[in-house]
Amino acid sequence: MRVTDEQARCKKGGIPIGNGFHFRKCSRAAVIDGYCKQHHPDTVQARRDASFKAYERKRERDPLNVALNQLAGARAERDALRANADALAKAVKALLVENRRVSIYADDKWRVARRRVEDALAAWREGK
Ligand SMILES: [Zn+2]
Repeated sequence: MRVTDEQARCKKGGIPIGNGFHFRKCSRAAVIDGYCKQHHPDTVQARRDASFKAYERKRERDPLNVALNQLAGARAERDALRANADALAKAVKALLVENRRVSIYADDKWRVARRRVEDALAAWREGK
């Protein structure tokens, strides 16, 4: 609704006219806090938020963005697998070291036992 009385008009100014070198004030009646319904800061912010949400929804569906997200997911999965592989390699290395330690111990026990048997056999042969 056009209003001529300056006090009753919307506070919004800086609206470009024509080629954008000239500006005018909003010509609608002030309805809330000195602004018309369209230029009230709350309405403006709500419109910006809705626009940004629409932009984000559009961006989420964008094939390039979907592909980039999949790539990022694949990279994270790869890094997790690498970390897992490193942990497994460490565990295997520890097991090999433990196995070698046990096998040296077992060889030693076996050598001692064999020597005892050979000594016992030698003693028996001498005593025969
Ligand atoms: Zn206005």
